[in-house]
Amino acid sequence: MGDSRIPDGLLPLDGRFGSGPSLVRGAQIDAFVRASRDVLGTSHRRAAVTGLVDEVRTGLSELFALPDGYEVVLGNGGATAFWDAAAFCLVERRAQAMVFGEFGAKFASALSAPWLQAPEVREAPAGSIALPEPREDVDVYAWPHNETSTGAMAPVRRVDGAPGALTVVDGTSAAGGALVDPAEFDVYYFAPQKNFGADGGLWIALLSPAAIERIERIGASGRYLPDFLSLPLALRCSRRGQTLNTPAIGTLLLLAEQIRWLNEHGGLPWAAERTGRSSAAVYEWALASAYASPFVAQPEHRSSVVATVDLAERVDAARIARSLRKLGVVDVEPYRGLQRNQLRIATFVSIETEDVRRLLALVDHLAGEPG
Ligand SMILES: *Cc1c(COP(=O)(O)O)cnc(C)c1O
Repeated sequence: MGDSRIPDGLLPLDGRFGSGPSLVRGAQIDAFVRASRDVLGTSHRRAAVTGLVDEVRTGLSELFALPDGYEVVLGNGGATAFWDAAAFCLVERRAQAMVFGEFGAKFASALSAPWLQAPEVREAPAGSIALPEPREDVDVYAWPHNETSTGAMAPVRRVDGAPGALTVVDGTSAAGGALVDPAEFDVYYFAPQKNFGADGGLWIALLSPAAIERIERIGASGRYLPDFLSLPLALRCSRRGQTLNTPAIGTLLLLAEQIRWLNEHGGLPWAAERTGRSSAAVYEWALASAYASPFVAQPEHRSSVVATVDLAERVDAARIARSLRKLGVVDVEPYRGLQRNQLRIATFVSIETEDVRRLLALVDHLAGEPG
């Protein structure tokens, strides 16, 4: 394959740098195996599994330091299903959606439902971020915390001058790896296959009292809500340690173990320190490199959990990603829609900074250029 020998010490110990599904730690697999006899293959309406859901809900309340009155709700279908649930159960009349990449665009598209007024879409080019603006007629402000397709990170901050409106943030790739203040959101939702290192298929939402009030009001309003996307129903099920229909119990086991690990080590501040250190390694490498540069121009918008770097034309990023894949180092290709000569490196909390450093040295080696 033309890469000849790889010098000692350049191969990451774990080659999984994908932005989701992402690295699953060995301890998560061990927890899965330990639970294989008494939890896997048992009823999701009985204590073994409802207790696991309760543990996830309590563990997330602790991890995010949720104030009294906030609740953790779960359902099936991943973050994508939550987009539609938000259109049915959170938006009263009109949303404002910030779009600066693929995931924000999909959320905005879900909020363009026929029973709502067309959302106001505030767009910014890939690699930058769009910020909300207060508007009289907007009752939901929606944006992604971390735009996984570009590696741009936006602040999670309530909109000044928008009393009564809900702040609804897609935290999918940020949650568990980045700090967030619950006082600044009404809904922070995510799927567990990024920093939580679990499998996909589930959505989890942290809800403020105002969000719960909105959900209950819309639930009582007579609006048609399909059961699968009904947040009033999800709220009732979650309070009993259940989901509306059968969840993937394995996903819950992997998720519960990761939450335990995070809480034992110091919670979100500890996680944010780890991801900050790993992502800084990528950005510092790129800034010092003759052929790489951070894709996100503004340093304060560079993601701490998904680092994107453009390569100079003379170095073919796709060739490097292919060579890495042959070495067992996978999923650093850029987001497909972006079509850039780029590498996208996840620096989720489970990924060791030393492995990130090995990856960067390996990229230099494959590029045939010193860093
Ligand atoms: C991965 C991701 C999603 C999609 O999650 P699914 O569980 O596949 O629906 C949505 N939003 C963001 C920001 C993501 O990173």
